[in-house]
Amino acid sequence: MSDTLMSRIEARRDELVALTQELIRIPTLNPPGRHYRDICTHLEARLAARGFACELVRAEGTPGDSDTYPRWNLVARREGTRPGDCVHFNSHHDVVEVGQGWTRDPFGGELDGDRIYGRGSCDMKGGLAASIIAVEAFLEEHPGHAGAIEISATADEESGGYGGVAYLAERGYFDPARVQHVIIPEPLQKDRICLGHRGGWWAEIETRGEIAHGSMPFLGDCAVRHMGAVLAAFEDKLYPALASRFTEMPVVPDGARQSTMNINSIHGGQAEPAPGDTSLPAHCVPDSCRIVIDRRFLIEEGLEAVQSEITGLLEALKAERPGFDYEIRELNRVIPSMTDRDAPVVTTVGRAVREVLGCEAAHVASPGSYDQKHIDRIGRLRNCIAYGPGLLELAHKPDEWVGVTDMLDSAKVMARSLEHLLTG
Ligand SMILES: [Zn+2]
Repeated sequence: MSDTLMSRIEARRDELVALTQELIRIPTLNPPGRHYRDICTHLEARLAARGFACELVRAEGTPGDSDTYPRWNLVARREGTRPGDCVHFNSHHDVVEVGQGWTRDPFGGELDGDRIYGRGSCDMKGGLAASIIAVEAFLEEHPGHAGAIEISATADEESGGYGGVAYLAERGYFDPARVQHVIIPEPLQKDRICLGHRGGWWAEIETRGEIAHGSMPFLGDCAVRHMGAVLAAFEDKLYPALASRFTEMPVVPDGARQSTMNINSIHGGQAEPAPGDTSLPAHCVPDSCRIVIDRRFLIEEGLEAVQSEITGLLEALKAERPGFDYEIRELNRVIPSMTDRDAPVVTTVGRAVREVLGCEAAHVASPGSYDQKHIDRIGRLRNCIAYGPGLLELAHKPDEWVGVTDMLDSAKVMARSLEHLLTG
C-alpha cells in the first residue's frame, strides 16, 4: 500500500475538475440521444494517449438508434505486464432532460467552492471522471501491474441500457472470462457499496366500455368507472399486501425496503386538448381507459407471483362486476440483482474505504435499477457493484452538483482497490 498513490491523486485535483467540466459541457441528452459520439471520441483521445486500446461500438438497431441519434459506446482496455484479473469501470455517458428550476447553466460545468454544477455532474459524469483519474494515477504508480484495466462509457442507461451495457453484454464484453471485477461509479456516496437493486415490472392495463351519449350513460358502459373499480381493488387489497412485505436486501431509503407500486399515468375518454385549444369537450361515455403501472418488487417475491397477484385481482373483478373486461400488456421487466457481500469486489472496495476514509463501508441496494441488471443476467458476471461519488438524491434534480472532495476521496478508494486487485 503506497501513500504516493494517494498524493498522486491529490495532485490531480485541478485535472479532475477540468475533466468533469469537459464531460458536463458535452450535452449528451437522453432522450433523444445527443452527442454520444462526441463524448466517446473525447474520452478515446484521452485514453488512447495513455496506452488504452479503444473501441467505439454503435448499438445498431436498439431502441432510439438512428443515423441522427446513433447509440455510440466506448470500451477502452489496457493490458498489464503479467497475467491477472481484469477490473472494469463502467459509466453511462447519457444524462436526463434539464427540466425547470435551474439557477445555474446546466451545461456550463460551473465550479463554485467545492461543487461542480450541471446536468449529469452527479449522475454520473463525476463518477466517470473520478474513475479515470484513479486509473491514471494507478498506472503512473504501478506501471508493471498485473491483469488488465477496462473503462467503458456507455449509452442509454437512463432509458434502460439496451443501446449500452445490454448490447455490449450480448456481445461478450462482460463475459466472466474477459472481465472479473466490475465497478459502476453511480452516485451512491463515497462510503457506501451498492450490491444491487430491486426488480421492476411495467405494464399497461386497459378497461373497456361502450361509447354512448353523455346525457344517457345508461345506454353505454363507462370504461373509467371500470378503471375506478380496478383502482379501488388496488387500494383495498394490493397496497396493504405490498406494504406488509419487506426485503432482506439493504435497500435505501428505508421506504423502498418494501414492495411498491406507482401508477405512472391514467387516461380515459376524449384525448387531452392541445395547448391553446379552446374548444369544449363533446359529451361521450368513454369506451376505453388505460393506466400504466410501475411495480417494484423484492428479490424474495419473484416476477411470476408479482404478475399473478395483479391478474388475480383483475380476474376477480371480471367474475363479480357486470360488463367488466380488461387487457394487460407487459411494457418492460427487470429482474432483481444482488451481489454477495463476500464477493471479491465487495470485500476489496470495503477494505479500501476503511483504509482511505477510516470507516466501515455501508452495504446498500438501490430502489431503482441500473446497468448491473444486464451485467448479471446477460453477462453472467456476478462480481459487480456500484460505487462512486455524489448524492443519489441530487440525480435528475435542478441545480444538480457533485462535490470535488467526494470525487477525490472516491478516486482514492478506486485506485486503492486497483492496488489490491492488480499488484502484489
Ligand atoms: Zn446514473
